[in-house]
Amino acid sequence: MTADELIELAKDPRFIKGIQQYCDNWCERCAFTERCFRFVQKRAMEDEAGFDPTDPEHKNKQMVRTLHNSFELAAEFIERGAAEHGIDIHSAEFQADLEDTDDDHEQCFQAARSHPLTEAAEEYAFAVQEWFDRAGAELEKRIQQAPRSEEIHPDQLQPEDVQDAVEIIRWDQFRAVATLVGILSIEDPEGLLTEHHKGKIKSILLGLDRSLLAWGKVQLLWPQAARQIMHFASLLSELRLWMEQAFPEARDFLRPGFDEASLHVM
Ligand code: SF4
Repeated sequence: MTADELIELAKDPRFIKGIQQYCDNWCERCAFTERCFRFVQKRAMEDEAGFDPTDPEHKNKQMVRTLHNSFELAAEFIERGAAEHGIDIHSAEFQADLEDTDDDHEQCFQAARSHPLTEAAEEYAFAVQEWFDRAGAELEKRIQQAPRSEEIHPDQLQPEDVQDAVEIIRWDQFRAVATLVGILSIEDPEGLLTEHHKGKIKSILLGLDRSLLAWGKVQLLWPQAARQIMHFASLLSELRLWMEQAFPEARDFLRPGFDEASLHVM
């Protein structure tokens, strides 16, 4: 896909502007794939790569090709944008400025990594990682062996509910860390990004909410692991509280598509 084709595709009115900025990136579970520019673009690039789907390496090859094409397109857009503003990105002066910016960014990145919110998110994420490394196989076995009966009450937990809960926990495990580092490492003295950050934080808060519920389901299946699970729940609850205090208006943010759609239903 060329840069011009990409620009044409972006004009398609079916796309919800900015929807991909505030989602959880879980496209397999997303109801808005056909209205998401990022998804449609990625699919078009994957289709274009045209690898044999029976090749066991097909997904990896496709990902590498798609990434390569994305970098090429990004480079072309940077060149075009710079040229429009009369900037020569190959000049020594520009490269020197870029190096200074890299140093500044590295400092901001390190500050973001050691921010108390990021540390709290990391503590949870790595504790969960350690637990799944140690107990994941046993949990999987318990899910496989859990009785599934049509006779039990429809509200009763089924093995697939716990499997789903595990997938949610794993999907959200590191998302808060990545988002917090991304947000906290950007200097925004004029608050220009504040609104955008609220949307990002809302997506993370919703992930924390559903992870808490998901841990509750795991605990119902495996009550003997309650002590450890309660520890994760407490880490999650603390993180959620601190994030809500740091970004008090985040939950009010209306995410394009997702929240607008639920408002229409109401
Ligand atoms: S909005 Fe949906 S389809 Fe688009 S990137 Fe996010 S999860 Fe994927």
